[in-house]
Amino acid sequence: MIDEILRQQNSFFSSQRTKAIGYRLVYLKKFQKALLKHEKAICKAIYEDFKKPKFESMVTETQMVLSELKYIINHLEVWSKPIRVKGNLANFPSFNWMYHEPYGKVLIIAPWNYPFLLTVSPLIGALAAGNTVVLKPSELSPNTSKAILHLVTEVFPEEYVAVCEGGVEVSQTLLEQKWEYIFFTGSTHIGKLVYQRAAAQLTPVTLELGGKNPCIVDESAAIDLAAKRITWGKFMNAGQTCIAPDYILVHKTVKSKLVQALQKHIRNFYGEDMEASKDFARIATQKHYDSLRKKLMGQEVLFGGENNDKTRFLSPTLVNEPGLESPLMQDEIFGPILPILSYDSESTLEKIITRYEKPLSLYIFSTRKNFQKKMVQKFGFGGGAINDVVVHIANKNLPFGGVGNSGIGAYHGKHSFELFSHKKAILKRQNWMDVPFRYAPYKLPIKWARYFRHLF
Ligand code: NAD
Repeated sequence: MIDEILRQQNSFFSSQRTKAIGYRLVYLKKFQKALLKHEKAICKAIYEDFKKPKFESMVTETQMVLSELKYIINHLEVWSKPIRVKGNLANFPSFNWMYHEPYGKVLIIAPWNYPFLLTVSPLIGALAAGNTVVLKPSELSPNTSKAILHLVTEVFPEEYVAVCEGGVEVSQTLLEQKWEYIFFTGSTHIGKLVYQRAAAQLTPVTLELGGKNPCIVDESAAIDLAAKRITWGKFMNAGQTCIAPDYILVHKTVKSKLVQALQKHIRNFYGEDMEASKDFARIATQKHYDSLRKKLMGQEVLFGGENNDKTRFLSPTLVNEPGLESPLMQDEIFGPILPILSYDSESTLEKIITRYEKPLSLYIFSTRKNFQKKMVQKFGFGGGAINDVVVHIANKNLPFGGVGNSGIGAYHGKHSFELFSHKKAILKRQNWMDVPFRYAPYKLPIKWARYFRHLF
């Protein structure tokens, strides 16, 4: 089946149809229309996968995709025009351009935590750039995977976009094939395997991975508002968000005020009986649920910690000063557990943050401009926010991606179009003049060679 899809996509891409911007726009608009029609069904599917509240699914998945689609549709013609660049003396007279050329067949492998957004957002970038696509949604969100299959097959012929459902074996088989680009979102561990497979074929990749995202709260922060925003970003999707704050680093003088404010906002958001809240998701898989429960063992729980094995409910939980060697502080938590660590000096802060590989995000709550700037400049991380969390993902003008262990490459908006395009450089010479110095036998004295740098 995969062989047949690849054969079809190769021949479709060679037909040059996707090179026409009009063709791409027709399909992006068809997709937009179909998505509007199926939005309810998609949100229902996500709910069935892990009880993600429908409001959250719309705001953080379908509406984000619709907004990106509209933006791409409105700008694609301008973005895809050849870009004139300056010539130089060495090539005088000449005209110079950069063309955005599609790669060809793109493989997109997606995770389960934002199962629609993280499958479809790269899809529209790849299509805008003129590629054909094979999607591999996550097997751990099977209802959303089905909904994506349904949506895609309604709009696209398989030779343009195909969906291959299934688990690890399907992913592995897909990775054995020859692709012109691979876009992977998932864990750092699997990202490394994908990178190895891609390297064997010299296939370019984007890897959107995870990390342990610090959230710094200094003594000057607006504590109540900080706590409210952290509560929102951490416990949305039950903490299963790659850019959620992983742990808090709070200045010791404001720690108790922050903890109290966090408790207040958690209660305000989800009520006293959090299991009954319609606005709080469940842990997506048993394996992940068990591992979160294990991570809590031996920890001092300041708030929350309630659970239900049958429904994979784990309440918003605050943990006091976990040991840095404890399992909770080893890898990304990816669940509704928020460790609170205090610091008393910037050097302690630095020691804790630099224990870990470069994270996907870092957040700073502070009203001191110098401190904000210092934190942004000192640490390596994919992206982040000052006095808020998570929201940088919702600005299409900002590239979204990691660095080091948290990923390679960045997308969204125009960055997606550029990511999925090869920049082809073309220089066009004129024939009315031909400077003879470059040709052998070289007649210029050797000492003149050093002046050539002024011509390049
Ligand atoms: P995962 O790495 O387990 O799986 C991701 C995808 O890879 C799935 O489609 C899965 O079928 C496939 N896969 C799994 N094992 C494979 C193997 N051995 N060979 C080939 N393919 C394989 O990740 P997940 O559990 O679905 O998602 C959670 C992780 O994703 C977290 O680490 C999170 O931080 C990260 N994430 C990152 C971003 C981002 O944008 N940077 C977004 C969401 C999630």
